[in-house]
Amino acid sequence: MKKTTSILTDSFGRKHTYLRISLIERCNLRCTYCMPEEGIKLSPRGHLMSYEEIYTIAKTFVDHGVTKIRLTGGEPLIRKDLPIILKKLSSLPVELSITTNAVIVDKFIDPLKSNGIKNINVSLDSLDAGKFKHITRRNEFERTYKNILLLVDEGFKVKVNAVVMKGFNDNEIIDFINFTKDLPVSVRFIEFMPFDGNKWNMEKMLSYDEIMQQVHTSFSEDQVERLTDEPNDTSKNYKIKGFKGSFAIISSVTNPFCDTCNRLRLTANGQLKNCLFSSSELDLLTNLRKGRPIEPIIKKAVEAKFKMRGGMDTIEKLQEPKLHSQNRSMITIGG
Ligand code: SF4
Repeated sequence: MKKTTSILTDSFGRKHTYLRISLIERCNLRCTYCMPEEGIKLSPRGHLMSYEEIYTIAKTFVDHGVTKIRLTGGEPLIRKDLPIILKKLSSLPVELSITTNAVIVDKFIDPLKSNGIKNINVSLDSLDAGKFKHITRRNEFERTYKNILLLVDEGFKVKVNAVVMKGFNDNEIIDFINFTKDLPVSVRFIEFMPFDGNKWNMEKMLSYDEIMQQVHTSFSEDQVERLTDEPNDTSKNYKIKGFKGSFAIISSVTNPFCDTCNRLRLTANGQLKNCLFSSSELDLLTNLRKGRPIEPIIKKAVEAKFKMRGGMDTIEKLQEPKLHSQNRSMITIGG
């Protein structure tokens, strides 16, 4: 395996071996915590990375030690040249994976499989069709649910990501865990996080502790097994004994996991974000188009990385709208 070179190691010694690439700013859903009500100002088409540029930039990261690439969006499956992107990126010595809302994933089983994708994360915030429609502003629950079952049948390793919000789906924790009884999926509860336009506040967020309290109302201590987390894992993993699947909690707000962060993000318009919460980003695409090397910019971005949450290292700072609203909306970051 290629050694991680210095341009991907930050001032805290964290080696960035995982690149998340947002392929598109568009989506076929309109999730309220991701896409601001008023929509977003899309980048002009010419400002978006072509598939060659995605490949060239990704190859540079892989040459310096990136071993994992996750494709995100918006919704990556609606990008017209996705099959070409998959083919080109699958030629790199890297673990390729994708995050999708699964609404149209049934049409991509072959290109996903033939390009070596084994891990698929699916965003699903409710097991109730009415609530699904409310949060996504689209009536696609049946297709999404059916496609999750299809992905499992097709042998993909499926993680279901659910953003948990009080007063919306905080009463579905146990339903989601029971969803893993006969299905070998990992359901991951994500603490609601602040991004531009998603009307976040601390009161709406269901914390790691509150989720575990709910778990222990329905399952006894010895039924709940704590699993070993992977290195660099964002989630704390559990399993109900005897269940085929598992569940996990991603607690960026109350229990951040920044110490072991190995993630960088490339936006669809070729900007490098050194952290999900960072409002600063550096332009790789313009330099690439001008034939200039991009390594110095990558190095600069990684060196500038804060220890935690883009500098919002306290709950007070995280609650400061002036700080978190400077960031992009989630739809143009890709989670
Ligand atoms: S908040 Fe930023 S530093 Fe922390 S784990 Fe996420 S991306 Fe890494």
